[in-house]
Amino acid sequence: MDQIIIENLQVYAYHGVYREENEKGQNFYINAVMETDTRNSGTLDDLDLSTNYGEVCTFMNNYITGHIYKLIETVAERTAEAVLLRFPLIRQITLEVRKPEAPIALPFESVSVRITRGWRRVYLSCGSNMGDRKAHLDGAVEALRADERCRVIRVSDWIETKPYGGVEQDDFLNGAIALETLYTPEGLLEKLHGIEYLHDRERKVHWGPRTLDLDILLYEDCVMCTEDLTIPHVDMHNRCFVLEPLVQIAPYERHPLSGQAIRQMYEKVIRDKKE
Ligand code: ADP
Ligand code: MG
Repeated sequence: MDQIIIENLQVYAYHGVYREENEKGQNFYINAVMETDTRNSGTLDDLDLSTNYGEVCTFMNNYITGHIYKLIETVAERTAEAVLLRFPLIRQITLEVRKPEAPIALPFESVSVRITRGWRRVYLSCGSNMGDRKAHLDGAVEALRADERCRVIRVSDWIETKPYGGVEQDDFLNGAIALETLYTPEGLLEKLHGIEYLHDRERKVHWGPRTLDLDILLYEDCVMCTEDLTIPHVDMHNRCFVLEPLVQIAPYERHPLSGQAIRQMYEKVIRDKKE
């Protein structure tokens, strides 16, 4: 990806653990590497198609002087997110906050924190088999659209499916959603649980009836397994009700472990079903 780079933007601000730092202030220096596609703006010589680096400098200066944090970690974290939210063409930013006048009683040149944050591509599955099923699924999409840390890119049709896992219950309405998000996988799961909760989701029977189920299928090429979260979703390749809507919106996306495209996985479950 192309980059726009800002080096050593000087900002006089008041961040620090010590009171004196908060009162007197000191110079901070900001380095930013912003990933963005400059081909269109570069080809057509049109600033409207790019991100104005002057505006980014002014924005970062205002943000960093407008807040007081103890840690440069926090300065970096909040500023990176604010830039990503304010300038939609920036896909990723590596931001370094340097503090060469930090109160350290030894000779040193500088201390700094450098982080990389950006929009991450995610695929979700959603399902409902209680109450107004369509309203629950539509409501989930609305809730995601209302969150500035999420951009809904594509939504599949809602598809009628038979229940899975052996529990006697009503038919499901299932779908898939493509997102870009600033949330971490754990943060996104928490967000999804919050939306389920708003839709009166109760966790009683495993694989049992539910007003709304939101699962993370893929999160970039991330592979992880903790007590609360397995990505890619552990059973997605076996579930027709997951793959049928997903193949509508992401047929060529690949599973990071098997390397198979969604379409191949879908064709396999259909074949297996027929046999
Ligand atoms: P299921 O979706 O399997 O029918 P639940 O929605 O009740 O069941 O989820 C149970 C738990 O599964 C969640 O609390 C969550 O911590 C965990 N989980 C593990 N991996 C994922 C994932 N990829 N997406 C969503 N939940 C997950
Ligand atoms: Mg779930």
